[in-house]
Amino acid sequence: MTKVHNFSAGPAVLPREVIDECIEALGNFANTNLSLIEVSHRSKEFVAVMDDARSVVKELMNLGDDYEVLYLQGGASTQFLMVAMNLLENKAAYTDTGTWASKAIKEAKALGNVDVIGSSEDKNYNYIPKDYNITTDYDYFHCTSNNTIYGTQMKSFPNSPIPLVCDMSSDIFSRPLDFSKFDLIYAGAQKNMGPAGATLVVVKKDILGKVSRKIPTMLNYNTHISKESMFNTPPVFSVFASLANLNWIKRQGGLEAMEARNTEKAGILYSEIDSNELFEGTTAIEDRSIMNATFVLKDESLNDKFLAACAEAKINGLKGHRSVGGFRASMYNALEADDVRALVNVMQTFK
Ligand SMILES: *Cc1c(COP(=O)(O)O)cnc(C)c1O
Repeated sequence: MTKVHNFSAGPAVLPREVIDECIEALGNFANTNLSLIEVSHRSKEFVAVMDDARSVVKELMNLGDDYEVLYLQGGASTQFLMVAMNLLENKAAYTDTGTWASKAIKEAKALGNVDVIGSSEDKNYNYIPKDYNITTDYDYFHCTSNNTIYGTQMKSFPNSPIPLVCDMSSDIFSRPLDFSKFDLIYAGAQKNMGPAGATLVVVKKDILGKVSRKIPTMLNYNTHISKESMFNTPPVFSVFASLANLNWIKRQGGLEAMEARNTEKAGILYSEIDSNELFEGTTAIEDRSIMNATFVLKDESLNDKFLAACAEAKINGLKGHRSVGGFRASMYNALEADDVRALVNVMQTFK
């Protein structure tokens, strides 16, 4: 197979070792002589996968028994609604840092009052708002750690006096954080964790059960906590592959090693963006994401030519999101520094 440099924003690159482990399990899962996708999710072999997949998350995040780990379905987009359903009684505070944050706000507004206490909409979301106050009259504060489409990333998090909820879909497990600061973290698996199909939720149990509304069974976190993510059939393939990937992260040295790797890759690309006069970055430098780098050609009429040169060099997934244009290089954990060097080579040759 020819090596393709996969800069896709999601679904996205996974380590070859993880893909191989999945191929093996699709043929013969845990010596059952059955495929992973044809055995009961209640089999002891799959229950062991789910148990490990839940516990490795707490291990990587250094969290204790006051947190629960859930593997749900419906993507991060369903969490926009589920968070509000389970936590919003009177009003909630949100920051608006781009498309995904805006969608989270829209869903919460369907269920209650929402104040947007920080926004970067004035500059097409090219920075992270920082001067806002979180007051105790809100039920919770919601933020988005990494803005996949705009290429901005929160480098620090507020000390919130109320439950802190964070959409970490596109930078989960990319760096060590004090995860105990957060009360609810969610992420669609398909960016930096595994294949599409599973949604990770990490929730501190004591924030639940406080709203007066009746919560439909499937949208109630307590349903899934009490059944250990097995209330209904879980996305078995995605959970298995996510576990394989989280074990790969552990073998590489955990989140510290991921941060070192991701910082190196981002450094290589941003220094080319800044030094190559054909290109320019689109975000405030201090808020640049180490996961998704967004940039443009100063002369847009060269866009198609540049993409053709990328295709020639087997560089995949570089076209920017339609709401920003230009280019976006997604550099999730499994991408190698050599993949970034291949892109930098094309940018230099193009110049
Ligand atoms: C991709 C993405 C989503 C949407 O995820 P789905 O699982 O497709 O619903 C939400 N938030 C962020 C930050 C994302 O990058």
